[in-house]
Amino acid sequence: MTKCHRFGLFLFCLILMGSILTGQIPNVYAGNQSPYSLIFVDELGDKYETLIRNEFYRVYPKLVATFNPNAPKIVKVKVDNSDPNKGGFYKFNEPDTIYLNMSKSLPDNKVPISQEMDQLNFRVFDHELAHLVQAYSPSTPIWIIEGMADYAMILLGDGMTDVSVPIHPEPKATFSSEIEKKKYKEAARFLIWAKNYKRSTIIEEINKYARQETVFKNFDQLWEEYFKHPVAIEKNPQCYAAGEKNCPDLTNGKGGSYSPLTKEPDGNNNAIVTKTTYLLKKPDVSDSITEVKAASAVQAICKTSGSPFLGDDSKIYHTWSYIKVGKMKGYIPAKYLTTKGFIPSCPKPSITPNTEIRHLVRSDSALYKKADQNSDILAYINKGTEVDIICVKPSKQDANGKQDNWYYVQVDKKKGYLSAESIKIIKGESYPGCKKNPVIPSELMKEEGKQGGGR
Ligand SMILES: [Zn+2]
Repeated sequence: MTKCHRFGLFLFCLILMGSILTGQIPNVYAGNQSPYSLIFVDELGDKYETLIRNEFYRVYPKLVATFNPNAPKIVKVKVDNSDPNKGGFYKFNEPDTIYLNMSKSLPDNKVPISQEMDQLNFRVFDHELAHLVQAYSPSTPIWIIEGMADYAMILLGDGMTDVSVPIHPEPKATFSSEIEKKKYKEAARFLIWAKNYKRSTIIEEINKYARQETVFKNFDQLWEEYFKHPVAIEKNPQCYAAGEKNCPDLTNGKGGSYSPLTKEPDGNNNAIVTKTTYLLKKPDVSDSITEVKAASAVQAICKTSGSPFLGDDSKIYHTWSYIKVGKMKGYIPAKYLTTKGFIPSCPKPSITPNTEIRHLVRSDSALYKKADQNSDILAYINKGTEVDIICVKPSKQDANGKQDNWYYVQVDKKKGYLSAESIKIIKGESYPGCKKNPVIPSELMKEEGKQGGGR
């Protein structure tokens, strides 16, 4: 414990911290062996649970690695619709739980989670996860708690929060009175500014001391300075949040705030493809546009913030790079691209429904009840029939060491297993592994919903 504990001195008190926060976003991917799990205490329905779970496995490991390695391994989600002013919240006395408001609509542009899990919904979810990871002392000023949660969301979420400069000063306002009202993204913006232009370790320091009984004060002068030179953080919030030097202007010099849903960033020319792969139309299983050879120099336009297969329960998420090769643009797996410098997040929502699957059966084949040729035959499928692949199930090796994959597919209204040999697969595709109860992709779920199905 040092005197730096008292934040009043923070500008003058240099602390050497063996911090886990390096300014670099750690490359943490949750796979099947993820040490984290998410429990839905209240049932939300398959669709929301899948979307929320995918977001959890995308963001939570990075939050933990960045802010608090001692954060809970098991996170619970509960539903509480009682407060119309909150899309989600966190309680200090339940440090492993986040609450989501699933009511149909909330007043005044508040964000309920129930609509379609759009980007705002995911931001609320990420923000609440950040609180859980913070585990800050309840005595920590609200603006620090909320500002740091929004900071985490900007850094590790989709990075697309509007962080334009708040209005200042209000008449006779002090730092405390203003920050009380501007405690979310405005506070995050202030912290990002301070990190970049005043004190590069401010986030680490706050993150460390907010978990203890700490007095944070003497921000008044800094707040005034901030409004004199607020810097155009809104042109690339995620990059500034990471403390990168020379953040590219994602508005392409057009001014205003980066509005990622409508503008495509300029991109970064220092990208090399590391493995020959296919350029795909969508960040998902989709038609390939062309082959991209290993060692090709390409332009990296952006990367998706994780594109889980809808309906994929396998906890694997795929990040894709959107690149320009010659005059063609498309997606390749992010792991096949090395880049120098910052690559912005892609403007499109990270999750796109899987609508372009066209898999044809190669020869007349049987649709089996189980991934086993001795199981019941549900139907015979003619050569050339189109099927939707739900997941892949590797079979056990037989006595000769031979192993065949099976695909769990849907043909018309029937679902069953087809031998992998029976299906023409588009090159470069991969599929989620089948779990005990395969989850149906959203397109199919919608169909079922129409018939009053819904599980
Ligand atoms: Zn909050």
